[in-house]
Amino acid sequence: MTTYAVTGATGHLGRLAVADLLDRDVPAADVVAVVRDAGRAADLAARGVQVRVADYDAPATLPGAFEGVDRLLFVSGSEAGRREAQHRAVVEAAQATGVQRIAYTSIVHADTNSTPLAVEHRLTEELLRASGIPTVLLRNSWYLENYTAQLPQYRATGAVIGASGEGRVAAAPRADYARAAVAALLADAPGSATYELGGPSFTMSELAAVLGDVTGTDLAYRDLPPADFRAGLLAAGLDEGTADLLLALELATAAGELDVAPTDLERLLGRPATDLRSALTALVG
Ligand code: NDP
Repeated sequence: MTTYAVTGATGHLGRLAVADLLDRDVPAADVVAVVRDAGRAADLAARGVQVRVADYDAPATLPGAFEGVDRLLFVSGSEAGRREAQHRAVVEAAQATGVQRIAYTSIVHADTNSTPLAVEHRLTEELLRASGIPTVLLRNSWYLENYTAQLPQYRATGAVIGASGEGRVAAAPRADYARAAVAALLADAPGSATYELGGPSFTMSELAAVLGDVTGTDLAYRDLPPADFRAGLLAAGLDEGTADLLLALELATAAGELDVAPTDLERLLGRPATDLRSALTALVG
């Protein structure tokens, strides 16, 4: 019997991963959902999943959550700037409790990715390497949902506004990343591995065209010079730090840093990655 745990199990990706483990006939009793608020995991408990409460910010809560766990899907925390200490606590708890394998949700091209978000992922990858625990690095590119979540703004302006020019981004729906993560967790491959994960890539012009089609909205991509893009964010009320981060993401997209071939994703999925039109239709069509 192998026991699998998923952190962030009440988050978007974690929920999909737990559901996928159950879909693949892993017995619910062998699945541990690590959550901050057990009340939000009542549906998982009702299905027989072991729900355990832990907080990355409270290291003493983590070993109990990982007790008896063989393989851990470690979903990166959502609070940028706090994740080095949080992730250190997770890795130390996994070491202390004898976890045999960790799959960690990192960022695409983590070694060279210039975005501020990559810094904590690089540090976490180093911690994982130093831990000696066999690790699968799931270097995820963007979620397609990062864009679909902005559909109300796109509709209001008739435009997808950015500063990424003709840069391509290999975004994929969370469901594909979750399925790939579970495949990596279940595979009986020894040792460590690194996967650069993304879906079929597209430019923002292509995104606007397909999203417009799928939603019956007149949408076009409006590319702004970086300074104008940033000024627009500030005028919309964003603080300087957020504006700088969003601009950095645009520039990284322009430079192709979020692009990757879908090869690794498809290897883990065992099927073609979901194409943009199908993925958008499933999300917002
Ligand atoms: P969510 O915000 O939906 O989920 C994050 C999960 O992490 C939640 O379950 C949350 O718990 C949990 N979490 C946050 N802080 C702590 C903590 N201190 N202790 C324990 N658990 C914690 O994000 P997604 O599921 O969409 O994405 C998963 C991760 O992927 C993100 O956390 C982030 O690192 C990264 N990401 C990647 C993006 C991409 O485009 N590739 C975009 C956005 C994020 P709770 O449910 O209690 O809130």
